[in-house]
Amino acid sequence: MPSKARLKINNFSLQGYSVPSICFQCPNPDCLEACPEEAIFKNERGIVAINAPKCNGCGDCVAACPYGMIEQYGSGKAFKCDLCGGNPVCVSECHFGALVFKEADKISRKQRVIQMKQRISEGTPEEKRYQLALKILESAVRVPRTAGYLG
Ligand code: SF4
Ligand code: SF4
Repeated sequence: MPSKARLKINNFSLQGYSVPSICFQCPNPDCLEACPEEAIFKNERGIVAINAPKCNGCGDCVAACPYGMIEQYGSGKAFKCDLCGGNPVCVSECHFGALVFKEADKISRKQRVIQMKQRISEGTPEEKRYQLALKILESAVRVPRTAGYLG
């Protein structure tokens, strides 16, 4: 059920690129700051997670995340990547070896900072992810804006 996956992909078929979106586990998470119920917390490993029983379904965290990486179930409860507690299932299930999970090194921290500078404040999570993916793609190849919304 890809709609419930925490890792998202935008496919740009015509250009032959796929751009993944993942939760950055932000140092200063906008989602956490926005939550009026203190239902979002950061654990000792730096993983940003949700205490579901405390979530009232207001959606403030969804609007606050500038990367479109937190969403709500039909019940209203928010959900996001919590790295499966430190052993992400997406990694173990990727039989092509395209995903790896490792502690951030100097280079990956720098890349994260660069990517986090791109922020989208308006739109649904899906729209935010698409806009960010488009920006990443545009920095690598020329993509006409007329490509339209492919999400
Ligand atoms: S859901 Fe968004 S704001 Fe929250 S930690 Fe992940 S990327 Fe950061
Ligand atoms: S939807 Fe839940 S987790 Fe998100 S801001 Fe509202 S109470 Fe907090």
